[in-house]
Amino acid sequence: QKIRLGIIYGGKSSEHEVSLRTAMSIMQAVDANKYEVTPVYVQLDGAWVTGETLAGQLPDKIEALRLSAKTPKSGSLFAMNEQMDVVFPVVHGPFGEDGTIQGLLELANIPYVGTGVMASAIGMDKWMMKTVFAQAGLPQVKYVGFLRSQWEKGQDDVMDRIERELGYPCFVKPANMGSSVGINKAKNREELKHALEVAAKFDRRLIVEEFVQARELEIGVLGNEELLTSVVGEVIAAKEFYDYEAKYKGAGTELSIPAIVPEHVSKQIADIAKQAFQALDGSGLSRIDFFWDEKNDKLYINEVNTMPGFTPFSMYPMLFQAAGVSYSELIDRLVQLAIERHADKG
Ligand code: ADP
Ligand code: MG
Ligand code: MG
Repeated sequence: QKIRLGIIYGGKSSEHEVSLRTAMSIMQAVDANKYEVTPVYVQLDGAWVTGETLAGQLPDKIEALRLSAKTPKSGSLFAMNEQMDVVFPVVHGPFGEDGTIQGLLELANIPYVGTGVMASAIGMDKWMMKTVFAQAGLPQVKYVGFLRSQWEKGQDDVMDRIERELGYPCFVKPANMGSSVGINKAKNREELKHALEVAAKFDRRLIVEEFVQARELEIGVLGNEELLTSVVGEVIAAKEFYDYEAKYKGAGTELSIPAIVPEHVSKQIADIAKQAFQALDGSGLSRIDFFWDEKNDKLYINEVNTMPGFTPFSMYPMLFQAAGVSYSELIDRLVQLAIERHADKG
């Protein structure tokens, strides 16, 4: 009997297009003898639409994923558990990777791939994530977190505090984004003010970090209770930092897999990655990103991405490919982990 797999993609987020690409890759990679796939498209305006079950026929163009089907009748989202055995939500960013879809699937009582509500929510909020890392004793860069309202009420106080605690250059980020959206580096007070204004457009929670001159290393974690780590990879950005253009338009970015780093570094990365995954109560998958200051041999955890880029050419699948797990095998394992986790909740 085939596994009825729902794939939720699109979403009300700046990573909408990336999600479509991922969904198509997954649909093309799964074994049609094993899976019956139902696409569920979340339009940019937030409306959910679903089409006919794709009985073995694959979409060949991104356009085919923008279904023309009608919105399901009201209440039918919660009847998804009669139509699907497991769901793979490949929606990045807010309203996807942040626990909201996960909560919906919990309510609908459907097993789903990836992290649960809590880990997803923590992983989406850089401020909260740092609080959890700190509590777990993981090495990270110095940071300051505050609310937009605090910034608006006391701009000089906030900037004084940043200068006192971090200095320049520093990195300003909205707490709840991804794909480098709204992130800027500041080298002086004027740039800091501008960067804070930009970040404040995206979120009411803001963080500023000390800048580290470092190599960017990433590792994949796969599992629920027992964790498998991938090889370590490196992102080599041609631009000043790994921004949205560099990430998704491939503008001069190179992935080096495996990363050429000393063994004690890759060991430490695997170790910290597992601790971070557990601290958030991760499940299924995450890509954990690090900064390695090679000169001083200092490692910092940057972030956990609970729904990392997942096309066959994205870092996470490639890291596992290099560890001997193919793209379609990775999907099989994630589906199994989703089912196991659901059963484990009891
Ligand atoms: P996102 O969740 O959008 O990927 P990140 O926190 O990973 O946000 O920041 C995006 C990029 O900005 C990183 O990949 C890195 O190139 C650069 N960057 C972020 N924080 C720092 C920092 N503290 N020091 C140096 N570079 C940083
Ligand atoms: Mg991120
Ligand atoms: Mg990142």
